[in-house]
Amino acid sequence: MQKARDLLRKYYGYADFRPGQAEIIGSLIKGTDTLAVMPTGAGKSLCYQLPALMLPGTAIVISPLISLMKDQIDALHGVGIPATYINSSLTTAEVNERLYNTRSGRYKLLYVAPERLESEYFQEAIQALAISLLAIDEAHCISQWGHDFRPSYRAIGPFIDRLANRPVIGAFTATATATVKQDIIALLGLKRPDTYYTGVDRANLLFAVGRGENKKEFVLKYVAANKDKAGIIYAATRKEVDNLYIVLRKAGWPVGKYHAGLGDDERRKSQEAFIRDDINIMVATNAFGMGIDKPDVRYVIHYNMPRNMESYYQEAGRAGRDGEPGECILLFGAQDIMLQKFLIEQSVLDSERKAGEFAKLKSMVDYCHTPACLRRYILEYFGETAAAEECGHCGNCNDGNELVDITVEAQKVLSCIVRLRERYGINLIADVLKGAKNKKVRQLGVEELSVYGILKEYGLQELKDLINRLIATGYLCLTESEYPVVKVTGQGAAVLKDEAKVWQKTPKRPQTVTKDNSLF
Ligand code: ADP
Ligand code: ZN
Repeated sequence: MQKARDLLRKYYGYADFRPGQAEIIGSLIKGTDTLAVMPTGAGKSLCYQLPALMLPGTAIVISPLISLMKDQIDALHGVGIPATYINSSLTTAEVNERLYNTRSGRYKLLYVAPERLESEYFQEAIQALAISLLAIDEAHCISQWGHDFRPSYRAIGPFIDRLANRPVIGAFTATATATVKQDIIALLGLKRPDTYYTGVDRANLLFAVGRGENKKEFVLKYVAANKDKAGIIYAATRKEVDNLYIVLRKAGWPVGKYHAGLGDDERRKSQEAFIRDDINIMVATNAFGMGIDKPDVRYVIHYNMPRNMESYYQEAGRAGRDGEPGECILLFGAQDIMLQKFLIEQSVLDSERKAGEFAKLKSMVDYCHTPACLRRYILEYFGETAAAEECGHCGNCNDGNELVDITVEAQKVLSCIVRLRERYGINLIADVLKGAKNKKVRQLGVEELSVYGILKEYGLQELKDLINRLIATGYLCLTESEYPVVKVTGQGAAVLKDEAKVWQKTPKRPQTVTKDNSLF
């Protein structure tokens, strides 16, 4: 591996490998098919670029986003590595010229979009190449159980089968669920692959959830307190991006925006301005970010809750790719749930997959509600059960709130749900606890029940938050249906029978931003 280390210093100027890189490179060089699961920012690109330099011939890199290929190639040229790309932005003459030059051994890497593999012409042309390695970036796109399924990735397996000389294959992804891994191995036809998993933890990132914030005010204060830092603010819709962009511009900040409703040119310009530090705030939908290498992003704020933990962790993970501290803040509002539910409902997915998406959404909502350690929640979600300890420095570990005994309140909520025969959703339960006098309550005739108004000293929103927290901590659960119904779990039943106590952080009042404008 000395040779690889020398090349690392010579081309990239890095002193040493990051965890996993040396092993993955070694495996590919040996000719072993390799599946590498590394979190965003861990340094996947190097793991195929270095083998490409070391092996005779040209490496083919399959990468999903045409718009980014040019940047990736420019970056390689910047460090003196001969590489090129072929995609639909080129004329036929340009494609032919690049293929010709590749055949004559001019490039160590050739980037292509998966769609290209289906072209007969490309398949013909490629047979004459000495392919050293086939690298598949964002390999989870091949699986419909991943969070970013792209049908064009399904062309990769058949493409490999048709190659006269099968090269070694490296598949790279940040998604680690067992089904996705199995899909990648099966659909690409990896042969006895070595799998590397570098863990999902990003120790340099701080996680926090803001609940009930005035979001706009929070962002303005946060940005003012972090003037010189680069950051991304993700919002759920184009309209929200446009609005927030205007708010920040009016406040005088150097801000850009990015979403699928803008022209190619405008998007490229604002992306470049952000990478070059001409602007340091990017307001964007999730269309922004995949494959963009800006190592010094210091914060990622989610203005809305994303649709699942996979998307959240990938987007938040764009902070601190250089290993320096980064802050990942999610501003949660209850409307965010409605929007994501609506999007799942409207999607073309079959009912089984919709149920899967609802389940993932539920885990995302639980993240927003949990009073426990956020880092531990993330690690457990991604299957790292060893992470039993609280991290001590996420927004929840560090919020200064005392643990209090809320057993009595919890018992009231639980008995109300039992009295209602576990047939209703959060809103109605909150109404009954509050003793609300609305049409629905009257229609159901629940005013006679002993639990009616049993927590009337609480606000309606506080009651909903309390129910949500009991869900997030496992005392209650929600059915996975269009109109989720709240049920009492075994853990909740123990509380009702006085066999267990419920300790929770004091219900949070809408958080006010502290003096240094940070949540920590
Ligand atoms: P990923 O694709 O896994 O999200 P990248 O390959 O884009 O990550 O790498 C993220 C950042 O880390 C890049 O800026 C890259 O140059 C840098 N990087 C990668 N490997 C190393 C290393 N061994 N030492 C220092 N920085 C590295
Ligand atoms: Zn923590």
